[in-house]
Amino acid sequence: MIIWGTRRRNAALGQMQYVCPGCHQPTYHGIVRSKYWFTLFFIPIFPFSTSTTARCQKCGFQEKVNNKQADAVLAQAQAPVIPGQQ
Ligand SMILES: [Zn+2]
Repeated sequence: MIIWGTRRRNAALGQMQYVCPGCHQPTYHGIVRSKYWFTLFFIPIFPFSTSTTARCQKCGFQEKVNNKQADAVLAQAQAPVIPGQQ
């Protein structure tokens, strides 16, 4: 007998600030990446799907975000700023 299934793993990536489509205010949104794994005998074997969700910290509005777009924005936001070395 083969026992297989799926498992979701969430990881918080960071925060993005933009005007929320839900409350129309410039709020912070928590960015969460969900990876869906194929499991065999409860052991994760390989990820088959990835999605990124942004959640407004004020009104709770949630929306899906393009994975690459989220990566790009977060990489930019978290790049170390070294004064005088532009
Ligand atoms: Zn909102």
